Amino acid sequence: MTEKDSPNSTSAGPSGQNQTGTLTPDAQSWARLLRRGLVDLKQLADRGWLEQHASQSALRQAQNALDIRVPEAFVAGIEQGDTSLSRQVIPSVQEVNIAPEELNDPIGDERFSPRPGLTHRYPDRALVKVTYQCAMYCRFCFRRHKVSHPEENLSFAALQPAYDYIEKHREIAEVIFTGGDPLVLTDARLNEHLARVEGMPNIKTIRFHTRIPTALPERITPELCDRLAHSNKMIWLVAHINSASELTPESRKALKRLRGAGVGLASQSVLLKGVNDFQEALLNLFGSLYENGVAPYYLHYPDLAQGTSHFRVPLEAAIELMSTLQGRLPGLAIPRLVVDIPGGYGKITVSSENWRRDIDGSWWFLSPTQHTWQKTDYPN
Ligand SMILES: *Cc1c(COP(=O)(O)O)cnc(C)c1O
Ligand code: SF4
Repeated sequence: MTEKDSPNSTSAGPSGQNQTGTLTPDAQSWARLLRRGLVDLKQLADRGWLEQHASQSALRQAQNALDIRVPEAFVAGIEQGDTSLSRQVIPSVQEVNIAPEELNDPIGDERFSPRPGLTHRYPDRALVKVTYQCAMYCRFCFRRHKVSHPEENLSFAALQPAYDYIEKHREIAEVIFTGGDPLVLTDARLNEHLARVEGMPNIKTIRFHTRIPTALPERITPELCDRLAHSNKMIWLVAHINSASELTPESRKALKRLRGAGVGLASQSVLLKGVNDFQEALLNLFGSLYENGVAPYYLHYPDLAQGTSHFRVPLEAAIELMSTLQGRLPGLAIPRLVVDIPGGYGKITVSSENWRRDIDGSWWFLSPTQHTWQKTDYPN
């Protein structure tokens, strides 16, 4: 393990708190589990998980662009040959192929960043990136130009200009903690950020965008849930989950704990070739989320992050695939397929045409169950 790979060398993560000696047994166990993740090529090679005859230099180049971290939670599944898990976390030589359309900052985070660590694109919501470390590193990461690079991390003090900005812009009603993964911070560090935002009268809701419920479910401790339950703001947690296999018994328990704390739960997934790009995988994923009290919110078409073209299916196929879910799942379990328009132009929902207006003013609707076009008049 190189110095750069070690979670201990980063300013985020539980290591900082070890010096205080105040970690509870639960916290100690999640910190230990985080460090048990696999972080170097040799560990993966020893398990026979790397592509055969793969170029070592290409794999090292992939690792330099984005650290490796296979979470302990995925190891058993990968051992059993579950490619919906392995493809997400094992580096591929294909990552060195940078397509001409791919961008360093695919969704224009930096263009709409009035202060370090802050992205303010929509009037009422703002993103705060409290760390660039994660409990696992996804090979398709849309923020891979910063994620996993410890020198990008901003301390609580360094984020004060961002918080001052949010406080002054009264139109901002929601703070979204993201990164990286905000929940790799220890309770003590997280509490600083939470308390700062809870003190802002303009903020009505606080949202976490996190991979923790499936990457490191043990992080969802009773202490953390207790803290969230006692917030003066409504807390939402949007969990990034891409495969039904991620919903292990531990992960289901973590989600249940969060629900018990009154945290609103939704999910975002990324449509990934070889992971979840077929109907059965999506029915299974969204059905399992719904069954566990998580409303599937967004299915992202993969952003144009560098070295990720092997994860993209044609957008046309993605739209078609989504249209086949209509009528097969409860409406609450069907997320919106979204494209984040490259360059920072915002997220939009894309869907297949299921309506047409006739010249006589009547409407034609495509039946999700009969697959026939039905004519309807709404006269007025
Ligand atoms: C995605 C995103 C949000 C959150 O958007 P929602 O549609 O509310 O989930 C907020 N700010 C930025 C910059 C984003 O990219
Ligand atoms: S958890 Fe999110 S930020 Fe972290 S590597 Fe995965 S996609 Fe990127």
